[in-house]
Amino acid sequence: MDEVFRLADEFGPARVVHIHRPAVGLRAIVVIDNTACGPAVGGVRMAPDVSLDECARLARAMTWKNAAAGLPHGGGKAVIFGDPKLPAEQKERRIRSFAQAIGDLADYIPGPDMGTDETCIGWIKDEIGRAVGLPSALGGIPLDEIGATGFGLASCIDVARSVAGFELKGARVAVQGFGAVGKHAARFLAEKGAILVAASDAKGTLADQDGLPVSKLIALKEAGGALSDFAGGDKGGTDAIIDVPCDIWIPAARPDVIRADNVMRLKTRLVVEGANIPLTMDAEQALHDRGVIVVPDFIANAGGVICASIEYRGGTQRAAFDYIDERIRSNTRVVLDESRRGGVTPRRAAQELAKTRVMAATATRRWR
Ligand code: NAD
Repeated sequence: MDEVFRLADEFGPARVVHIHRPAVGLRAIVVIDNTACGPAVGGVRMAPDVSLDECARLARAMTWKNAAAGLPHGGGKAVIFGDPKLPAEQKERRIRSFAQAIGDLADYIPGPDMGTDETCIGWIKDEIGRAVGLPSALGGIPLDEIGATGFGLASCIDVARSVAGFELKGARVAVQGFGAVGKHAARFLAEKGAILVAASDAKGTLADQDGLPVSKLIALKEAGGALSDFAGGDKGGTDAIIDVPCDIWIPAARPDVIRADNVMRLKTRLVVEGANIPLTMDAEQALHDRGVIVVPDFIANAGGVICASIEYRGGTQRAAFDYIDERIRSNTRVVLDESRRGGVTPRRAAQELAKTRVMAATATRRWR
């Protein structure tokens, strides 16, 4: 009894389901954390080393992200144990079997995450008629292709830079991780007059205080190249991006890249979190104490899940962009105002905002 409810608190999880189908080598866990705001939306992660704790933590993060974004969705997550690079046939069988097993979990809507892509989501939809992040042939909005999360980051940055007191035109931007999130953030910011002074990928950092050509770098990456293949700029190791002087620093790669031991190296006025948990809590606090604004992940990078939610409700790409822009701007403003008023970090203010929304939704539910 104690072990089963070890993860439980006042917000959830509402349901934890273990799935075991030895015939197809399927072992999976679904955590439906909280459904006060509506059916839970959250990705399906496939990796060999996933765990119940990871699944529960990610499901809770989705509860806050969806509530903060004002979506009619609670938070959930699923993990499938296994190598995401399984031979295609075996992977399809395992994912389809997973889908059949969650068919009756009507308050969980699965989406893509690490190790699953839109094709996997298409298989799930085929089995149970319910999923987000679909291929465009099935009515999906290709959120990574259109840059939904990067677009939301640019909206967030436009508000945060006005609070910090500088213009976007001419602002120097550094982007760690020039992938689906990072490259589109750079593109939308460049369209507003900002200057990309550094970008990094898994192979290294490219920097130039006079500005880098964003569209050429995107074309280079899309052709399968690395930033270090670009003829020009200064080249450095992956870590060198941390030392580049800039006005806006965007982590869009891995978790925990800025910690107590390297946070003092950042020379920026604003950090906007494209990746999930890219800064440790003590690093966020240290920057806050130095007067650097840090907009937390679940406010800044909500563009992707907002897009998925609009897709689920049959909306268009245009509607998704409008909603992302409006919602992320207003949330950023509220969170930074509350942070100033209360003298707390923007993350703390954002958590309060999300909790208040979940509690308001809970008050309307029969089983509280
Ligand atoms: P991606 O795989 O498209 O891009 C990641 C990029 O980071 C790649 O260019 C890779 O080379 C680079 N990279 C890896 N290790 C690095 C390192 N040590 N230093 C610098 N660069 C490194 O992934 P993505 O979809 O852009 O996601 C990036 C992050 O954003 C992840 O944390 C993800 O969870 C988060 N996120 C993504 C979305 C989305 O819509 N895709 C939404 C919310 C949050």
